[in-house]
Amino acid sequence: AAKAGGDSRRRYAPELDDEAGEAARLGAAMRIALDTGQFRLVYQPIVSLPDGRRVSVEALIRWEHPERGFVSPADFIPVAEQNGLIVELGAWVLRTACAQAVVWRATLGDRAPERMGVNVSARQLAEPGFPELVAAVLARTGLEPQRLTLEITETAVFGGGRAVQAVKDLRELGVRIALDDFGTGHSSLGLLQTVPVDVLKVDKSFVDDITLAGREAVIATALIQVSHGLGLTAVAEGVETAEQATELHRLGYRLAQGYHFGRPVAEPDFLASPTTVAV
Ligand code: C2E
Ligand code: CA
Ligand code: CA
Ligand code: CA
Repeated sequence: AAKAGGDSRRRYAPELDDEAGEAARLGAAMRIALDTGQFRLVYQPIVSLPDGRRVSVEALIRWEHPERGFVSPADFIPVAEQNGLIVELGAWVLRTACAQAVVWRATLGDRAPERMGVNVSARQLAEPGFPELVAAVLARTGLEPQRLTLEITETAVFGGGRAVQAVKDLRELGVRIALDDFGTGHSSLGLLQTVPVDVLKVDKSFVDDITLAGREAVIATALIQVSHGLGLTAVAEGVETAEQATELHRLGYRLAQGYHFGRPVAEPDFLASPTTVAV
């Protein structure tokens, strides 16, 4: 790392080496984790306002490493994106979540969540054959396409190209597409002109201070108007208090997700939890 970069660059080089080393160790540990079944999924409800009925669910990955303990997806998903393991890991998430949705439908009937949300990373979406993989998983598990919502980020489709074509192919299959963390990207509104989506998941940062009637409330109001104007579904993310839920409902939000309604839990707890929560 001793190129002509000046002092500052040399000073930071060891840190970068550390980071690269840690990423490599994490990557190797993930390979083992995949092979030995250390990953599991937890499920968080998405509820309708104001009645608190559980209409949908998002699958979130968890990793309990035998020595490291709990590793956050915010830490290992970026590493998996870098080294490509996300393709295999993502396929596992998709298969597991879709199979789970079918089991719930069989055991809970009409009380089962109507849809299963699965996070898809940029690298997965751009991978050749991703729509075909989704079609194959749906066929194999027997999950109806309209019961699957794929959550993608704005950055994943920002560059256009294959990712946008994949979105179109997936919608052609009947799968719903949600834009995750909506409003935090560089071109949130611009993207809506070129990328056909069904759901906007309005980022937690706009929900946090919504009861203070400041800038966040103005933006959250604008986003619900855009979403309704375009015929899209909006979901407010990261709702932690009853006050936020009330305010969101007043602004026109009909779907919400967050600790206030339910934390992400493992499958037995999800099955045991009430299908309607207090708002
Ligand atoms: P995300 O898709 O935006 O997921 C929402 C995150 O917010 C989750 O964190 C969830 O546990 C958390 N959350 C939900 N409600 C609340 C709330 O009321 N307050 C607060 N403070 N947090 C709340 P988690 O599970 O740690 O996941 C972090 C991120 O990792 C996800 O953000 C997603 O980008 C990524 N991720 C998780 N699972 C997967 C996966 O299976 N595949 C891919 N590609 N990415 C995943
Ligand atoms: Ca998500
Ligand atoms: Ca999100
Ligand atoms: Ca996020």
